[in-house]
Amino acid sequence: MPVVFDAGRRFDPHVPVLIIGAGACGLVAALAARDAGAEVLVVERDATPAGSTALSSGFIPAAHTRFQRERGIADSPERFASDIQRKNHGEADARLVEAVCRASGPTIEWLADRHGIEFVLVEGFLYPGHSVPRMHAVPEKTGAALMAALQRACTAAGVDLLTSARVTTLYADAARRVRGVELERPDGSSEAVGCDALVLACSGFGGNPDMVRQHIPEIASALYFGHAGNQGDAVRWGTALGAAVKDLTAYQGHGSVATPHGILITWALLMEGGIQVNADGARFSNEHAGYSEQCLPVLEQPGSVAWTVYDERLHRLGLEFEDYRQAHSLGAIKRGETIEALAVACGLPAAGLRATFADVERCAAAEARDRFGRDFTTKPRLAPPYYGVKVTGALFHTQGGLLVDERACVLDSRGLPFPNLFAGGGAACGLSGAHVWGYLSGNGLLSAVTLGRLAGRSAAMLGR
Ligand SMILES: Cc1cc2nc3c(=O)[nH]c(=O)nc-3n(C[C@H](O)[C@H](O)[C@H](O)COP(=O)(O)OP(=O)(O)OC[C@H]3O[C@@H](n4cnc5c(N)ncnc54)[C@H](O)[C@@H]3O)c2cc1C
Repeated sequence: MPVVFDAGRRFDPHVPVLIIGAGACGLVAALAARDAGAEVLVVERDATPAGSTALSSGFIPAAHTRFQRERGIADSPERFASDIQRKNHGEADARLVEAVCRASGPTIEWLADRHGIEFVLVEGFLYPGHSVPRMHAVPEKTGAALMAALQRACTAAGVDLLTSARVTTLYADAARRVRGVELERPDGSSEAVGCDALVLACSGFGGNPDMVRQHIPEIASALYFGHAGNQGDAVRWGTALGAAVKDLTAYQGHGSVATPHGILITWALLMEGGIQVNADGARFSNEHAGYSEQCLPVLEQPGSVAWTVYDERLHRLGLEFEDYRQAHSLGAIKRGETIEALAVACGLPAAGLRATFADVERCAAAEARDRFGRDFTTKPRLAPPYYGVKVTGALFHTQGGLLVDERACVLDSRGLPFPNLFAGGGAACGLSGAHVWGYLSGNGLLSAVTLGRLAGRSAAMLGR
């Protein structure tokens, strides 16, 4: 039973702020609640906190930060909001987008200055739809390193973390005030914990094939590349409580996961001049539209695969990324001194690949327009030696979820806030609208980190 309405049940222990899920959202919410003076308990189903956050590249977009200003980059919350809304064709709630964009810069600076998390600005390429560099990452540029930094900060801040504790049930009273939760231990035993405020930071439903089939059939047969523990609990509990859910059809896909190795190949290769071809050696899409929506055209190709093709310059760019280095060391990256040699290395028809290169050359020289609408004139032309990697499309995480307001408070279907229930990250409805193409790179961690802070702060007001 996901939610039990029981006003009489006694809870021991009782904590002021309870947070379900120890990914980026949960840990940032915990830091914010501690800063606001509340005692916090984070419960996490896994033995070691990781979530999709640890699988991610750890790139967090934020506007008008000192990291940007130090590099001479002019950005503003308004500009960021406009980039987000342009990508999703205005489908997201403009007020929430504005609130999150406004809070994004201060949140990164607070994590850096108050909690000692070192950030660098990611430069050298722009993801589709971002008008300026605004991705912030820890120096290692991995989600695992981001998680490690957040955990260190939580330990220093005195956040209590209970691992191997899967929350199964929420308890609420008739006024829909959450009173506590029941959690299950790996040995089958269960415990109950009461709370003054609850933050749902247990992400979306990407790890639940039935829910993906129900809400996003177009990606149901693809590889799920996110955290298996994200089973849609927030949506199930919220729905049972009468919360509004929105945009359950939205998700972050990706069109460049090395197969069969299962390693993310950075989209920077494509943004800086690389192309994608199918088993005929032919291009099939505008690779600059966005990596999220590119999952679908890749999956539509013969064998549901494509090859990302590039050159030595871009190979060197790729080597700046940990996952690319890993793919390289496992032999996923093929190399050829000529187009023909690359075709042999990748098992592609040389004539088809040669014809594609010739087409791209004509577009780069402005002698022809790309039939998919990509502009090839702004980046250096591909030059030998060439590289290629076989990739497939995947589901990274779901973007729909519980509707929240600017304080990250969960709303019911009439738009009224629940008394003590908050959500952020994959548990909340994101900023991408209802479609795969609405996802602007970074919308995932933006919502996790920024809404996480807002949720933790709001929850602390009820639990001090
Ligand atoms: C390969 C990959 C690369 C990505 N790269 C980026 C990127 O560079 N930038 C970006 O913005 N986004 C990126 N994303 C998306 C990003 O990872 C997610 O949007 C973000 O991590 C979500 O954070 P979260 O805290 O909401 O969820 P998570 O990090 O998934 O944490 C949720 C936690 O809740 C726990 N949990 C779930 N249910 C329960 C329960 N019932 N009881 C207790 N615990 C529970 C889970 O075990 C998990 O630890 C990427 C995703 C993938 C898969």
